[in-house]
Amino acid sequence: MKKIQMVDLKSQYISIKSEIDKGIQDVIDSCAFINGPAVQAFQKSLELYLGVKHVIPCANGTDALQVAMMALNLKPGDEVITTSFTFIATAEVIALLQLTPVLVDVDPGTFNIDLKAIERAITPKTKAIVPVHLFGQAAPMEEIMEIARKHNLFVIEDNCQAIGSDYIFNDGSRKKAGNIGHIGCTSFFPSKNLGCYGDGGAIFTNDDELAKQMRVVVNHGMVVRYYHDYIGVNSRLDSIQASILNVKLQHLDEYASKRRTAADFYDKAFANHPKLTIPARYSKSTHVFHQYTLVTKNVDRKALIEFLTSREIPAMIYYPVPLHMQKAYLDPRYKPGDFPVTEHLCETVFSLPMHTELDEEQLTHITRSVLEFLNT
Ligand SMILES: *Cc1c(COP(=O)(O)O)cnc(C)c1O
Repeated sequence: MKKIQMVDLKSQYISIKSEIDKGIQDVIDSCAFINGPAVQAFQKSLELYLGVKHVIPCANGTDALQVAMMALNLKPGDEVITTSFTFIATAEVIALLQLTPVLVDVDPGTFNIDLKAIERAITPKTKAIVPVHLFGQAAPMEEIMEIARKHNLFVIEDNCQAIGSDYIFNDGSRKKAGNIGHIGCTSFFPSKNLGCYGDGGAIFTNDDELAKQMRVVVNHGMVVRYYHDYIGVNSRLDSIQASILNVKLQHLDEYASKRRTAADFYDKAFANHPKLTIPARYSKSTHVFHQYTLVTKNVDRKALIEFLTSREIPAMIYYPVPLHMQKAYLDPRYKPGDFPVTEHLCETVFSLPMHTELDEEQLTHITRSVLEFLNT
């Protein structure tokens, strides 16, 4: 059996090696390393794929979130609502910009932001909501946009984990996740669903003014060359990464379907097990399974992971610590117990290998091993 990995980037590379190698070589031959034709080509292809008017490539997903917030012209002390169960970057940029992160709990089934909790968290200082499309499926965007309209708030989608998933509106129409709020952000970190071979990110918007402003922010606040009207940042996607993304974007839907096949295999093995809850499939979003995450019940999770490791099966905990209990983010406004769903998930979840190259032999070994541990 092929060695099982959380993400098998090597096997995926081998399957597209000639296209990738040619793309990289073309960039080197052209020496257009920054803002070369590969970056423009990728920008256009991603705009078409997402159905969004503007894609602004940048250096990573964290920058994408930061640039989005900088473009909204928020003032220190303005409140930004986000979830307590996410990767740190979401809250990090809010704090870095001296805005106030306001955390809310998540839905126990989808792990995505809890709508009722958003409403309760709104104050006169609230300026924006940052829903995170966690593990590969979209948050309830239609309702979030309605809340935002009612309270005149910006919505920035953290779409770092759900690129390619479709949001399904009540009338049956669809839009790509990341293309529903005022701004969408994504990451091309190698292990993401659309990953490059280094760092990369992008920002999406349908708003011409915001797009213009964000293009200025990523380029040192420069409007006319060497005239700086704003304090910006330097955040670029390099041409070699763009050439890789140009290849991988062509495969993104096929990759999502491979991930779903693996998820279906896991679901079938674990559904109805008294000690496991399989990930909920939200009816308003397709799932692109950035992670396959199970909730355990009365299971010694550490012993389970050790057992799997002894069988050469990697397993991870996303995420072990709720944001409000992270050392750097301790805040007198929050205490343990404030976000019971998040806290319970941090204590009970674990994620199994999920990528585009899992074969049936590996999936069988993984599911049998998990069940063997739970049933003995
Ligand atoms: C990966 C990720 C980020 C950050 O992306 P980087 O490219 O690593 O900076 C932000 N938010 C979420 C939810 C992520 O998964």
